[in-house]
Parts: sequence; structure tokens; C-alpha cells
Amino acid sequence: MSTAPDSVSYVSTLLRLSRTLNSSLDLNRVLHTAIEQVVEFVKAERGFILLVDQGTNRVWGRATHGIEPQALETALSGADRSPRPEVSRTIVEQVLRTREPVVSTDALEDPRFAEHASVQLANVRSVACVPLLVQETSLGLVYVDSRVRTSVFNQHDLEMLSAFANQAAVAIQNARLYENLRASLEEKLKLQDQLHRKETERLALEEANRLKTEYIGFVSHELKNPLTSIRGFVQTLLANPDLPRDTAEEFYETIEAEADRMLALINELLDSATLSAKGSLTLNARPVSLGPLLHRAARSQRYSSHWTANHSMVVDVPEDLPQIVCDEDKVHQIVLNLLSNAVKYSPQGGEVRLTARASSESIEIAVSDQGIGIPADQHDRIFECYERVQDDDTRSISGTGLGLYLTRQLVELHGGGITVESDPGGPTVFRVSLPFQASGPA
Ligand code: ADP
Repeated sequence: MSTAPDSVSYVSTLLRLSRTLNSSLDLNRVLHTAIEQVVEFVKAERGFILLVDQGTNRVWGRATHGIEPQALETALSGADRSPRPEVSRTIVEQVLRTREPVVSTDALEDPRFAEHASVQLANVRSVACVPLLVQETSLGLVYVDSRVRTSVFNQHDLEMLSAFANQAAVAIQNARLYENLRASLEEKLKLQDQLHRKETERLALEEANRLKTEYIGFVSHELKNPLTSIRGFVQTLLANPDLPRDTAEEFYETIEAEADRMLALINELLDSATLSAKGSLTLNARPVSLGPLLHRAARSQRYSSHWTANHSMVVDVPEDLPQIVCDEDKVHQIVLNLLSNAVKYSPQGGEVRLTARASSESIEIAVSDQGIGIPADQHDRIFECYERVQDDDTRSISGTGLGLYLTRQLVELHGGGITVESDPGGPTVFRVSLPFQASGPA
């Protein structure tokens, strides 16, 4: 027989256990620490705490000492056909059913259990098992045993286990309630999050629709302007067949420039639609002399609505600039975009310069202006789709944020590159290099 523990150590252990139980709302931690302390206190060989759902008999929580959790599960499920199951189901089931504690000094010799095969097979000697009860509800049980020694547990141990079980049951119930509360709170937060996301999506859609409408308005306006001016010049020419030659030529040039402007905008829209639908553009490459194309693009800027008396245009292109193999319309579009930006973003005027030089592998085209400039941290961003510098100067100038995005796509489609050098208030230079033979994106 084991000796009765002295009352001081009994109470202090109970206190320690009680503190463990109430120190955390993490159920797993509570159970594991508790079973370690109980086993140590009653000098058991093994032990476990089992939490069983009253209605369904489903095990929903456990902590073991000296027994593999898996082996315990197998033994209790009855699936264990091995000659030596780890635990006797009979004792566990009896405590769950009767809700009465069980203590035996030697179950193998105990008339209550001896004839049960599971007790024999599990070779249970000393055993104590108490139910975990909260008022009328059973939460499971605490079990300790020894398969080596007899008479390990006495009445004091049983009392200690029962007192512990009472406290444990309350702590477990609290942890479970807390767990349920947390789960339902999490569920609620998730729902709220979903609702919030739906609302954000709805707002984003509304914003996209608003932008689309604004964009259509802007594009119609941009197309209508050159069309109106073309119509006006054509009507004037038709009504005045005897106009002086110089004036008539100027009218024709204006018509050509306005038509180019419309074409550029339409191309921009078509390219951006193709890009977003197919992810790439195609080239129609053939040998081209860039000189006339560059001069024509520069000339057309005089008819831009942003051109002022303070603007001047310098074209610096050598006569003998070699031909390159490229898509003429697309290179025209690249140069027009850069030139029209140069004029547009220098509202006070200043010199706009278009330069072209041949190197050993490529032709370098540069467009510079003396306008508002671009902060260094925006140099990458402006090449992204729909991105514009967000400041008051830029906002007061109309634009879609598409031009440079498409310009870069078109340059890269030729296997070339584009860079920018600029500072706020300083000169801005865009440099494009186009290989002699369009080689596709690098
Ligand atoms: P946008 O239609 O707005 O002109 P772009 O894609 O052509 O679109 O240009 C993107 C942005 O880059 C412009 O909104 C402007 O902020 C800036 N930007 C482009 N070119 C210049 C320039 N020459 N000088 C100053 N800022 C420029």
C-alpha cells in the first residue's frame, strides 16, 4: 500500500494544479501540464485525460503521459487486435457510463474487472480513473495506472484526483467556451471582411465605370477637335479656290497635321485595346528613311492646341541618316508622342528639340524640352499604363497616361529601349534607341 500523502503536499499539489488549470485558456496546454503533474503526484506509470462528447461519444481532446496518443485512440476505438492493447476499454467505458470514480489496487485480481479480456490483455495492475463533471454534464475522465506495480493508489489519491477533476472540468469548460467564442468571433470577422471586400470591389467597379465614362468623353473631345478644324479648312479651301498659294499650303499642312493627330490617338486606343486583349502588338517592318518622318512629326506640332508663340522647334537630323527596318507608323507614333508631350508639358513655351544620330548598331532619337520636368521618383512610373505625375502642374494639362506606356511597348517591340532624364523645373530629355533591324522585344 502506498502511504497517505501528507496534507501539506496534498493541498499544495492541488493548488499548483489549480493554478496550472487557470493559467491559460489554451486547452491543449492546460491538459498536458495537468496530466504531467497528476502522474507525478500519484506516482503513476502512465496517465491520460480524455475529453469525450457526451452525445456522440466522440473524443475531442486528450493529453497523455507514457502512452502514445495514437495507441490510446486505437485501444479505445476497439480496433486494436494486437495481443497487448495499451489500455483497457472496459474501465474507461465504465467510468464514462456510470460517472463514478474507479480505483483498484490490482485490476488483474479485482473481481470487478478480472474476467474482462481488455483488462487482462492490457495487463492493468494499479488503476484509478475519475470522471470530469461540470454540474450534470460529463466532459470525460482522468486516468492513471501502473502495469508493473500493484497498490500504487489509495483513497487519498482518489480524493486528490476527484478534487482535481472537479477543478479541471470547470477550467476545461471555460477553455471550451472561450474557444467557441473565439471561433464564432473569427467567423464573424471573416464575414465582415468578405462584406468589406465586396463593398471595396463594388466601389472599384463604380470608379472604373466613372473613369471609363470620363475617358470616353475625353477621347471624343480629342477626336472632335482635329475633325472640326479639318472640316473648317476643307470648307474654306473649297469656298476659296483662289487663295494665295502660301495660305493654301499652310491649310493643307494643317489638315495633314490634324489628321496625323487623330490617327495617333486612334492608334493609341487601338494599340492599348490590342495589348489588353492579346498581351502583345505586331510589327509591320520594312526599310524606312526616318528623316522625312521626323520632320513631318516636328512640323505637325505647330498645329497642336498646346503650341504657343513662346515655343520653338529645332530639328537636328543629318541628311545622310541611314535607313532602318521598322514599322513606320509605329515609329511615327513614338516620335509624335514624345514631341506632343514635350510641347504639352512646357506650358510656358521654350525650345523643343528633336535630334537623331546613327551609332554602329542603332539610331538614337532624342526629344528634349524646357518644361515642368519630372521628379526622379516618377521616372519609372510614367511608363506604366494610365500613370501620370500627380501634381497641380500636370493635373491642369489633359492626358490619359497611356502615351508613354504605349511608346515604351512600341520601342521594345522593335528591340529598342527608352530612357528619361529630368528634374522638376529642369529640362526633360527622352532618348529612344532603335536597332537598324527591328529585332523584337529584348
Ligand atoms: P499623358 O496622356 O498624361 O500625357 P503619358 O503616358 O504620355 O500620358 O505621360 C505620362 C506622364 O508623364 C504625364 O502625365 C506627365 O506627368 C509625364 N510626362 C510625360 N512627358 C513629359 C514631359 N516632357 N515633361 C514633363 N512631364 C512629362
